[in-house]
Amino acid sequence: MPLLVARDLTKIYPGKTAAPVVDGVSFSIERGETLGLVGESGSGKSTIARIVLGLLAPTSGTVTFDAKPVTGVPQHQLRPLRRRMQPVFQDPYAALNPRMRVEQIVTEPLVIHEKHSRAERRRRCQELLRQVGLDNSAMPRYPHEFSGGQRQRINIARALSLRPELLVLDEPVSALDVSVGAQIVNLLRDLQRDFSLTYLFISHSMPLVRYLSTNIAVLRAGKLVEFGSRDQVCETPRDDYTRQLVAATPEIETR
Ligand code: ADP
Repeated sequence: MPLLVARDLTKIYPGKTAAPVVDGVSFSIERGETLGLVGESGSGKSTIARIVLGLLAPTSGTVTFDAKPVTGVPQHQLRPLRRRMQPVFQDPYAALNPRMRVEQIVTEPLVIHEKHSRAERRRRCQELLRQVGLDNSAMPRYPHEFSGGQRQRINIARALSLRPELLVLDEPVSALDVSVGAQIVNLLRDLQRDFSLTYLFISHSMPLVRYLSTNIAVLRAGKLVEFGSRDQVCETPRDDYTRQLVAATPEIETR
């Protein structure tokens, strides 16, 4: 049974045009897999991410996580599911409260969701920082003291604090230099292997999606024009737009 299933998602934002920005999108993600959702800016990727996370209601369609509904349920009922799926967004600075120390940032979800002593939280923070390649000296410091890549590591540590099963990664390296982004991508790969994580990896970059994904979904103007295994999509794309994306993007090597 897939961990995540999206069925026939449509989103129309109220406004001048009634055109759907997401239009009949269906996909599923098996446990431990990465679905790469690729499409140009404005194609509806973030809208899908927010619907999957239960942060935005679709106009129609459903999302289930571990066979439980994410759509059409009141917010307070989502709480137990929310902790099992965590977002990591593009801008690592915007996501971090500038007035909080790293220790607070990383352990805040634990304070909200779980009852731990301060010493336990501190231990958990040290463990999480180590897992994302930072050390204990980061704990008393503030976000502005870190580089973009380090800040994204702090975000990832926070996202992992409640031991989620699914990470929704919305352009997690787009704001970073290529080499720093590659390090983060490799970190995500290692974390997935070590913690059996499932990823919805959203990017406008076909090379990155190709590098990380088990399956690939290609989104164009709100519609999925392609959905299949990485090899099928990259080697024998069925859709013209996918063919252009693949042709324009040499395979990358980040290790
Ligand atoms: P992507 O992540 O692929 O760049 P988005 O999901 O952010 O795409 O946006 C898809 C389309 O929906 C865009 O045309 C965007 O302008 C529009 N859009 C996004 N959020 C809103 C909103 N809150 N209200 C109205 N339109 C929106």
